[in-house]
Amino acid sequence: MSQAQAAIPSQPRAKQLRACLLCSIIQTPADFRKHGCPNCEELMQMKGYPDRIGVCTTTHFDGIISVIDPETSWVARWQRTAKYVRGMYAVRVKGHIPEDVEAELESRGIKYRPRDQTDMD
Ligand SMILES: [Zn+2]
Repeated sequence: MSQAQAAIPSQPRAKQLRACLLCSIIQTPADFRKHGCPNCEELMQMKGYPDRIGVCTTTHFDGIISVIDPETSWVARWQRTAKYVRGMYAVRVKGHIPEDVEAELESRGIKYRPRDQTDMD
């Protein structure tokens, strides 16, 4: 028998990807422009607004994890992404959403937690 081979997906080109500062999902800038963030679009309203995407997502993130089944994945629980769509997520995201966006979230009763795992105040 010849050696079994699994298809190896081509490496995502990390430099071209952006992570959402709110939920840490990773997408291409084109996806953010076309669809917004699949988790936070209602709050962030990035769809079609490159400026908004520029301040609410970042290229500064570490580690990519794949969340296949958000309901059961231990990674999802660890990342507190249980309610999020399946996809690629960053382990750490550097940066902070703009203050006006944070104020907007607060007015809806949502407490923003930065994704850089520093929890500074
Ligand atoms: Zn998001």
